[in-house]
Amino acid sequence: MSNNVSNLVFILSGPSGAGKSTLIHHAMELDPRLAFSVSHTTRPPRPGEVDGRDYYFVSRETFQKLIAENAFLEWAEVYGEFYGTSKSEIERLGRMGKDAVLDIDVQGARQVMVKLERERWVSIFILPPSLETLKQRLFSRGKDSPEQIEHRLRVAQGEIAQAGNYDYQIINGDLGRAIQQLTGIIRSERGKRRINS
Ligand code: ADP
Ligand code: 5GP
Repeated sequence: MSNNVSNLVFILSGPSGAGKSTLIHHAMELDPRLAFSVSHTTRPPRPGEVDGRDYYFVSRETFQKLIAENAFLEWAEVYGEFYGTSKSEIERLGRMGKDAVLDIDVQGARQVMVKLERERWVSIFILPPSLETLKQRLFSRGKDSPEQIEHRLRVAQGEIAQAGNYDYQIINGDLGRAIQQLTGIIRSERGKRRINS
C-alpha cells in the first residue's frame, strides 16, 4: 500500500454478538472523522443490510479473483464464508481524510498488524460480559439461524483467547460506558500521534 496516506486504522475484533457493529455505529455518530471500512464478503445479506454500506456482497468467484489480483490488505474464512478488506477501501477513506474503522476477525487483524506500519493502526478487542450474555445477544439480534448461532458460539472461546494480543480490551456490558471507552481510546491515540489534529 502507498505510504503517503496517513489516516489511522482502528481494528476492532471480538466474537460475533459482542457488540462491534453497535459500538462502531455510535462512535461514528459522535465522530465525523471516523469512517467504516466496508469489507467484501461471500455471505448473503441479512435482512436490512445494504450492498456498499454494510458489505460489498460478492460471489465466491469474484472473491477468488480479487485474491488472485492481490486486491486485499487482508482476508480470511470466517464461519464458513470469505471476508476481506480491500486495499482500495482503506486508500479511499484516507483520501477523504477519514480514519478507518475495521470490523474484522482475529485472523484478518493479525494480517493488518503485520502489513501496516505500527504507527498506523490501533487494535481493540470487544468482549461480552459473559458467554451467556453473548448467546442471549445473538438470539435477540434475531438475524442468524440457530445453527449459525451455535457455530458462532463454538468459535467464540478461541477468539476470546486472542484478546490479549490487542492494544486495548473493552468489555461491552453497559453500552454507554463501552462507547465512552472506545471514543476515549480514539481521542487519546490521535493525540499521541498528532495526526489529523
Ligand atoms: P457484533 O457486531 O459484534 O456481531 P452487534 O453490534 O450486532 O454485535 O450486537 C449484537 C446484539 O447485541 C445486537 O442485537 C445489539 O443491539 C445488542 N447489543 C450490543 N451491545 C449491547 C449492550 N451493551 N447491551 C445490550 N445489548 C447490546
Ligand atoms: P458478520 O457475518 O457477523 O457480519 O461477520 C462475521 C465475522 O466476520 C465478524 O467476526 C467480523 O468481524 C468478521 N469480518 C467482517 N468483515 C471482515 C473482513 O473484511 N475481514 C475479516 N478477516 N473478517 C471480517
